[in-house]
Amino acid sequence: PRPNHRETASAGNHPHFQPGTGRPDREDRRLLPVPQTRMERVLADRAAELGVEVRRGHELTGLSQHADAVTVEVVGPTGRYEISSRYVVGADGAHSTTRKLAGIEFPGAASDDIVTRIAEVAVPNEFVDPATGGLNLPGYGHISPMYHRTERGVFAHARFPSRPDLVFTVEWATDGIDTDAPLNLEEVHDSIYRVMGADLPLRPPEGRGPHRLDRSIGVNTRLADRYHDGRVLLVGDAAHVHFVIGGPGLNLGLQDAINLGWKLAAVIHGWAPPGLLDTYGAERRPVGERVAMHSQAQLALLAPGAEVTALRELFTELLRDQHTAAHIANMMAGADICYDMGTESTHTLIGRWAPDLLLDTGNGPVRLADLTTTARPLLVDCTENACLATEADGWRDRIDIVTAHTSNTAATGLLLRPDCYIAWATDSPDPGPHERESMRTALTTWFGTAQRPSQRRPVPPRSAAGPR
Ligand SMILES: Cc1cc2nc3c(=O)[nH]c(=O)nc-3n(C[C@H](O)[C@H](O)[C@H](O)COP(=O)(O)OP(=O)(O)OC[C@H]3O[C@@H](n4cnc5c(N)ncnc54)[C@H](O)[C@@H]3O)c2cc1C
Repeated sequence: PRPNHRETASAGNHPHFQPGTGRPDREDRRLLPVPQTRMERVLADRAAELGVEVRRGHELTGLSQHADAVTVEVVGPTGRYEISSRYVVGADGAHSTTRKLAGIEFPGAASDDIVTRIAEVAVPNEFVDPATGGLNLPGYGHISPMYHRTERGVFAHARFPSRPDLVFTVEWATDGIDTDAPLNLEEVHDSIYRVMGADLPLRPPEGRGPHRLDRSIGVNTRLADRYHDGRVLLVGDAAHVHFVIGGPGLNLGLQDAINLGWKLAAVIHGWAPPGLLDTYGAERRPVGERVAMHSQAQLALLAPGAEVTALRELFTELLRDQHTAAHIANMMAGADICYDMGTESTHTLIGRWAPDLLLDTGNGPVRLADLTTTARPLLVDCTENACLATEADGWRDRIDIVTAHTSNTAATGLLLRPDCYIAWATDSPDPGPHERESMRTALTTWFGTAQRPSQRRPVPPRSAAGPR
């Protein structure tokens, strides 16, 4: 879906960055807070559109791998049954049964002394600062939206359109908690009081529930020791868990799925080059490792104590440097990912997520993003004589080819994988034989061998104005 600008916030507004300096260094990168329920609805609608059957209330209970198939045992509302398929993707969350049944270890670190509490609540309107959405807490003062650390813990408050306010606390003491008793508003209130030293009256939110009220003891940072084992693949929290700060979890999981989706489709449709599926774990596990690293680092910076306060002061000084702030902002946004595309070409965009260029295709301006909705590989040829399109003729059955003009001189030719990472690029207006050969190599590396002329069937021309 297109960004809803009412919900769009730049990384520069994040309290961990100095305003105005901590933006990811590209304007097309923004933090876009989207409720998970909305995201799930969008994905469910798209799955339905594609004819995917989603079976709710069916539980995976067994899994066995064979040479050419994998069989899963499922318990559904009407009993137990089996399904065999060529691959299984475990997207079954942190306690993934798929991962356990496939014998994939989940090593990492556990911080058992931490308790987090999260609740949907109503706070007195007179406490909310209409200008910032933050809180004016009597006895404490102004609190910016989102995370706020004191020497005793962390408090966060967030206001969302058409949803109840969220409050969240983190404390580094688990003594005396009755873990059998469900969390209630009084316990949340007392936790806020301990962290802030001030009283924030809480009421249940208006409207029909159930309203969120969760307590969680311990923080796990874990990464599957492999994302791919034979015919089993893991995505999302099944492959990685980490502290929630900064909210990178959903993006990380979606990017796993987008990275894996087209590769698995290529294997199933029979055009995948050898080893394509292995690149899934090779690319995504290091990204998961990096998120684990920065969420642990942030957890350390939130801990109580005078030494941590001193460390935060040092970090605050460092973040005044624009390059450091941009480095951190890019890391938090996942905008620093650069995959190894296995090419000798050195164009700076290779391996990176495609910029949303504005292209002139002869039918008016079109955004590059709008050309990628077919989820097929895409070659954008802005060279003077459209020589790249000719060169890629043998791959037309698998890739979309668009010839266009762009005022952006950074790239005259871009080869995008379906996950929108750039496999190859040039800035030459008239690429020579060596460059064209390097594009052919990239096409073969990612999209398999070219069809011989005798194998080719006519492909309808790609509409430049939008998806086919
Ligand atoms: C308190 C909290 C706050 C968070 N805040 C944010 C945030 O602000 N931003 C953000 O990006 N992320 C946030 N996250 C993380 C985010 O929720 C997860 O990263 C995301 O939900 C992972 O999605 P997933 O599909 O991989 O797993 P899940 O959302 O856990 O989904 C797994 C699904 O698999 C199903 N399942 C499990 N076992 C089986 C089985 N045996 N058979 C069949 N089905 C099964 C489950 O029922 C579930 O539907 C937060 C997490 C928590 C706990």
